[in-house]
Amino acid sequence: MIKNPVPWPNGARCAVAITLDMDADSILHLEHPDDSLSRVAALSMLRYGPEVAVPRILETYRRYGLKQTFFIPAWCIEQYPAAVEAILKDGHELGHHGYIHENPNEAGREDQEYWLQRSIAVIERASGRRPRGYRAPLYNFSDHTADLLVQESFVYDASLMGDDIPYILRTKDGDLVELPGHWGVDDWPPYVHAPDLNFSMPIMAPPRAMEIFRAEFDAQWEHGGFWVGIWHPFVSGRLARWCEVDRLIQYMLDKGGVWFATMEEIADHVLACAKDGGYSPRVDAWPYYAEPVRVTMDPKLRAVR
Ligand SMILES: [Zn+2]
Repeated sequence: MIKNPVPWPNGARCAVAITLDMDADSILHLEHPDDSLSRVAALSMLRYGPEVAVPRILETYRRYGLKQTFFIPAWCIEQYPAAVEAILKDGHELGHHGYIHENPNEAGREDQEYWLQRSIAVIERASGRRPRGYRAPLYNFSDHTADLLVQESFVYDASLMGDDIPYILRTKDGDLVELPGHWGVDDWPPYVHAPDLNFSMPIMAPPRAMEIFRAEFDAQWEHGGFWVGIWHPFVSGRLARWCEVDRLIQYMLDKGGVWFATMEEIADHVLACAKDGGYSPRVDAWPYYAEPVRVTMDPKLRAVR
C-alpha cells in the first residue's frame, strides 16, 4: 500500500509523533483584536492549555519515557514561560508555529520573513537553539513559506498533507523534509466547539474520536508508515480526552514495533537513510505550478482546443 516505506530504526513498523500545538489564547486575540479581553470564557478555555493541560501531558510523557514535539507561537512562549520551561526541562522539542498564529497567506513575503525571523529569535532565547521544524498556523503554508524556511535553514516542515510518510519538498535553493499530517489526525474536527473562534463542531465522545486516530495508526502500523497526532493542549488535554490518549499510547506500546520520536528525530532519520543511499524518499518539486491556473469558461476557446 505504501510504495517506499521508510526503514525505521530497529526494524520498527511505524514511527509515531504526538505533536501538540500550544496555541493558548493567541488565536482569540488574532480573531478578535478589539474585544478579545471581554471574551473571558473563551480566554479561560484557551489558557487551560498552558496552565492545566501541559503539566498533565508532561506527566504522561514522563511516565512513558516519551520525548515529543511542541509547536508554539512565539507570543505564547513569551506569555507562558513556566509551561515552556517545563516542556524544555523534560527534553521535548520546540517547533516554530508563527508569532501569534498569524496567517502567512494574508501577509506579503517581507512581513512573513519578519515574523518568521522574530519568532526564531524568541525560540532561540527560550531554548538556546534555533528551531529546526515549522508548522504553519492553521496549515496556512503560503507560496513563500518553503523558500523562507530553506533560507532560515529549517530541516523540516509539518504543515502539508501530500503523502502518508515523510517526503522531500524540493525548492530551487534546497530541500525540506516534509512530515505530513492531515485533518483526520487533527483534534479540532472531533472536539472543538468554540463560537468565539468561528469553529463549532458537534463534540464527539472521546472513545469515538479515538477510533478515528486509532484507525489511522493501525493502517500506518500495518504498512510501515508514519503516524502524527496534530493535537492541542486546550483540546486533547481536557481530562476525559487525555485519559483516552493515555489508553492510545498504551495500545501502541502493547502492539509493539513503534518508534516514538520527536519530529526532529524523524526528519534526521529520513535524511540519514537518504544520505547513506539505502533509501529514496519521494521528492515533491516546489512550486507546483509556474503560474496561476486559470481555466477559461469561454465556449469559443473551448471549441478550438
Ligand atoms: Zn496552531
